[in-house]
Amino acid sequence: MVGKDKVDVVVVGAGIAGLTAAWEINRHNHNFVVLEARDQVGGRIQSVTTELGVTVDLGAQWICSHHQRMHAYAKQFGLKTAPTYRSGRTIYHLNGKPKITLKEIPPLSFKAVVDLIQAKNKIDQWVGRLPQEEPWNSALAHNLDQFTIDRWTEEALLTQSARNFYRLWAEAMACVDLDEISLLDMLWCIKTAGSLENVLHGEEEWFIDGAHSIPRRMAERLGEKVKLNTPVKRIVVNTDGADNTGVWKTKHVIVAVPLILADRIGYDPPLLASRAQLTQRLPQSIVIKFNVIYEKPFWRAEGLNGISYYDQGLIRYTIDSTPPDTKIGILTAFSGGKFGRKLSAMDLVARRNKVINDLVELFSPQARTHLAIYGKIG
Ligand SMILES: Cc1cc2nc3c(=O)[nH]c(=O)nc-3n(C[C@H](O)[C@H](O)[C@H](O)COP(=O)(O)OP(=O)(O)OC[C@H]3O[C@@H](n4cnc5c(N)ncnc54)[C@H](O)[C@@H]3O)c2cc1C
Repeated sequence: MVGKDKVDVVVVGAGIAGLTAAWEINRHNHNFVVLEARDQVGGRIQSVTTELGVTVDLGAQWICSHHQRMHAYAKQFGLKTAPTYRSGRTIYHLNGKPKITLKEIPPLSFKAVVDLIQAKNKIDQWVGRLPQEEPWNSALAHNLDQFTIDRWTEEALLTQSARNFYRLWAEAMACVDLDEISLLDMLWCIKTAGSLENVLHGEEEWFIDGAHSIPRRMAERLGEKVKLNTPVKRIVVNTDGADNTGVWKTKHVIVAVPLILADRIGYDPPLLASRAQLTQRLPQSIVIKFNVIYEKPFWRAEGLNGISYYDQGLIRYTIDSTPPDTKIGILTAFSGGKFGRKLSAMDLVARRNKVINDLVELFSPQARTHLAIYGKIG
């Protein structure tokens, strides 16, 4: 990796993190290359244009007001967004009974609602006290790290129905089982979002041409510096194998890949033991998303906004992703954590049937008659 293969910075991974890093490096006129293992950029941002002519997101889709950089890129690239459809009532299918309400607060008993509000107040207090940088070094960290979210929910909430709803919501947010992450981790995620309110309203708007428009436009502008089909297998300090094909010589490396994949890269000298242990032990989130396309958004005619929560389904949460100015309707259905693992273990037909059956249970028999379903395991 000398001569033409010598750069100031090598960025590993052309997901949004790697491309954003490259974008900034390029802006400051440094020499760089982005090495991407797959044959396309975007990583967990992936959009497909369906045979019906609409674009759906199989991965990340929504942004909200605190995603200021994404807003700036959207403006720069002239991308249009649509607000999430929220007019109408939400379905809460809890404890075996569907309830429909206009309010954002779940239709639980007075005691359970008070319980949830108290839990939210507690979270707000902690988030206020937690430092944005290095939260693990704060005075609160040790105590908060003693609790998984699951254990905290069990101990902090006093009513079973509030616990059930809180678990349903937190699982949808974290996409991992709640006994796999610590309270500190969850609070820090909320802190980085600005507040619990921001997290609760995270799905504010989405890109009509698909979220992939952003990484695609970035990669187009970065041009040949983004190399596809180029997995990074080893990072070696002071190598003298500089003339080997496929070797890049650089002063800096930015590894912008999920931690679990970063662990599959060989490092010479090896990384610190604490870092290696972290990458080996961190639970990998699982979130499965299905976009179910209908002839029309039938739920809207029934006064529903398409948002639903289901504590007994493998589909746990839905939202309306119908593009503006179209006749068709799109329901986006989510599964994650252990529910996602159950769904992903099914064969394709059984998985699709389960998704549709859950939607029928949530909405109405009309949910069965769909035009197409697009989904991915992520
Ligand atoms: C189904 C789903 C829905 C989501 N919805 C939202 C949402 O609505 N809003 C939101 O904000 N977030 C959402 N997210 C999260 C969001 O997608 C991720 O946080 C974000 O895309 C992560 O970007 P990244 O660049 O860090 O990693 P990735 O997108 O994972 O990119 C990493 C890249 O590195 C490449 N790579 C890996 N190993 C190597 C290697 N050794 N050499 C070279 N390249 C390598 C990969 O191929 C990949 O392209 C969602 C995620 C999923 C799965």
